[in-house]
Amino acid sequence: MEPINETEKLLYSKLVNMLSFTDYWKDDSLLQCALTLIPADELRVRATVKYSSLPESNNVDIDDLLLLELLEWFKEDFFKWLDAPKCDTCDVVTEKKGFVTPTQDEAKWDARTVEHFECPKCEKTYRFPRFNHPRKLLETRRGRCGEWANCFTLLCIALGYDSRFVIDWTDHVWTEVYSHSNKQWLHCDPCENVCDKPLMYEVGWNKKLKYVIAIGRYEIQDVTWRYTRNFEDVLKRRNVCREEFLLHCILTLQEKLQKSLSPPQLKELKERRARELAEFLSPAQPDSGNYSGRTSGSLSWRLARGEISFLENFYVFKLNTEEIKQKYFHIKYSCALDKYMRVSSLSVQTEDWKSFTFSHANMFRKVEKDWKVSYLAHAEGFSRGSVAWKFDFRDTNLVISTVKLNLHSRTFNSGTIKWLLFPNSEDDKITKYSPEEVCPLETTDLKGNTNFILKAELTGGDSWQHAQLFRQSLDSTAFPFEVEIHFIEKMSSP
Ligand SMILES: [Zn+2]
Repeated sequence: MEPINETEKLLYSKLVNMLSFTDYWKDDSLLQCALTLIPADELRVRATVKYSSLPESNNVDIDDLLLLELLEWFKEDFFKWLDAPKCDTCDVVTEKKGFVTPTQDEAKWDARTVEHFECPKCEKTYRFPRFNHPRKLLETRRGRCGEWANCFTLLCIALGYDSRFVIDWTDHVWTEVYSHSNKQWLHCDPCENVCDKPLMYEVGWNKKLKYVIAIGRYEIQDVTWRYTRNFEDVLKRRNVCREEFLLHCILTLQEKLQKSLSPPQLKELKERRARELAEFLSPAQPDSGNYSGRTSGSLSWRLARGEISFLENFYVFKLNTEEIKQKYFHIKYSCALDKYMRVSSLSVQTEDWKSFTFSHANMFRKVEKDWKVSYLAHAEGFSRGSVAWKFDFRDTNLVISTVKLNLHSRTFNSGTIKWLLFPNSEDDKITKYSPEEVCPLETTDLKGNTNFILKAELTGGDSWQHAQLFRQSLDSTAFPFEVEIHFIEKMSSP
């Protein structure tokens, strides 16, 4: 089957380019090199400790838990995010000035583009080559989601997992890892340290997915259907090529990748593919409150049964009639009382910090009776925890004008807390705040937006008590969590 237009030609060459990754994954010396950089023994010990605390009848095996440890180590200790380099003389973030041609040495490591930056103070210039060769990434250990997922996929393969590099046409990449205990491919997003939450892009980030293609050492697959529950909408957006042309490309390239395989290997891949297709036949159908469709039976659900809480609540704050009229929303939370108060709506009170979270992982509320204080912290035995709230006003005629955050927390020793704001639009940047910056903070950064997620990430220290969210004395009447939003009317289109 031949391409009938330019977009089909482009699609085919994009798929062919993806095949070049498989060479890295078959390079034994590269895999060996990757393996020496992973503290595998230490990660295995941690996984084993968690495994031993699971109830006897669980479907998790040690490899699943090791994968979670690898994800966490990769994000926390190994790889760094880089938007723009800092000037080493002035210690300020440089500004992007466009692209320059890769040097011969950069091209050697498969850098196809080089971003060009300039210091706003001293005008010194910096290059950020977007290397594709994971051998180089093992050394630079920095980049954006492309570099992250590329390097993480290699590390997974080096550790013996069957892994795929996943490219989403709406500009994100991640990894999939085959779980033998689950007989299923697990979604892994190394930038987010998230495992097995395939709907996070569509539900959490409001992504409008089109094509999601996975490439492994011996296969290439269209895995779009794992990441959406709106098959019809996705199909309407898939306008780059004829569906049968995509299928033809995939089958052709697949054949090429599987040329050297033995009949038993081929048989196993075929069986896996059949199971995967069967999984795609029934999309997850979460109701407004939860994700129960696909999550039951998933790794996160099974871990939750072992009382390791990786819970998703999916509560979303929306405006009621009164708030729409006032163009104002105000929620606050008292940790002493463990109560939310919706000030902008008759000061309605709701108990339990969990009742309004979008998601939370490994978190609990601690009450120290002796010291008469309470706070949220990550559970003992974990080095991190997180909690997120989602605000969504798309069903109104309003857009955000200002957001005021008043978020109090305390850290001790090496414990850290990071606040993150995820705006609705895919190209908007995630803003990170230190705890000092958000008590209080009034920002117009979200001006014009209609929805966002506010998330707190707590990490370690040597003890779970070293990062305390909303710490307050039990007799305090303060509200250490407060979000106030002012709105304006959406400009009507001319
Ligand atoms: Zn400078």
